Amino acid sequence: MEPHAVPGESPVCACCAEPAVVYQPVIRRYLCGTHLVRDVEERVRTTILETGQIHAGDRVAVGLSGGKDSTALLVILSRLLPTLPGASFVAITVDEGIAGYRADTMRAAKSLTQRLGVDHRIVTFRALIGDDLDTLLIGRETHACTICGILRKKALADAARAAGATSIATGHNLDDEAQSVLMNAFRGDLPRLVRTTGTGTSETFLPRIKPLMAIPEKEIASYLFVQDLFSVLPECPYTKYALRAEVRALLSDYECHHPGTMQHLIESKKTIEQYCAGTPVMEPLHRCRECGDPCSGDLCQVCRLRHSLGK
Ligand code: SF4
Ligand code: ZN
Repeated sequence: MEPHAVPGESPVCACCAEPAVVYQPVIRRYLCGTHLVRDVEERVRTTILETGQIHAGDRVAVGLSGGKDSTALLVILSRLLPTLPGASFVAITVDEGIAGYRADTMRAAKSLTQRLGVDHRIVTFRALIGDDLDTLLIGRETHACTICGILRKKALADAARAAGATSIATGHNLDDEAQSVLMNAFRGDLPRLVRTTGTGTSETFLPRIKPLMAIPEKEIASYLFVQDLFSVLPECPYTKYALRAEVRALLSDYECHHPGTMQHLIESKKTIEQYCAGTPVMEPLHRCRECGDPCSGDLCQVCRLRHSLGK
């Protein structure tokens, strides 16, 4: 029998005996809405402070897609950042140009930033490369997420620099991090887990931070739901081409039968990082010969992509 769950009765919160809304299987604990919100925000605060992700005086550019993870990230940072002296933030939404998907998430992003009173900037693929993603992908649909990922990273970095940001925060959660470990293993590219590009200066390279990396996706959804902030939004039509979608389904199923699997994958990554400490896995930082952006080779990914797209 699970703690605080009596057969035939609804489970109650481990902290206050109110009806539970979520179960944390790894620590075998039920929580009510109020204690879930406190717990999530406290874990994010601990992640930010322990890993040194945000410091007093930082200006954080929050990548806001309008989906649940980035919505939760913005809500949490809007509560936590005022406690760090001089810290400020700006929300940035990238409009890739995806019919049937982006309009709704854009509306959600605008309404959230208005409600929170947050400075919100919108950048488009059309302005970045001259076309919407839908047009760029004609005949290349199976490469959708690779192309989208490269351009989105560039659009976000340019907008963050223009907004005077010192770092970029994304809504990657525990599930995303565990999926990335597995995807790199499946691709035979475990070194990528610990490979980073030379730090450079903040002028050329903005650190990317993941304040939600310790929070499971299910708890993020519940965190929003109990505060009436959860909206059902359409899914990107290109998701079906992503390897991540297969890995997500596989890992969620495995986690359900073996709670803690995702956490173990993340711990494996940390172990590899420790073993690799001091070995030359860091790629030297160069400047792209065409656009001058920081990159690890002669041409950056965006310029290579421009060439292959004939742009
Ligand atoms: Fe871009 Fe792929 Fe995400 Fe769609 S699913 S928004 S194409 S990365
Ligand atoms: Zn370039």
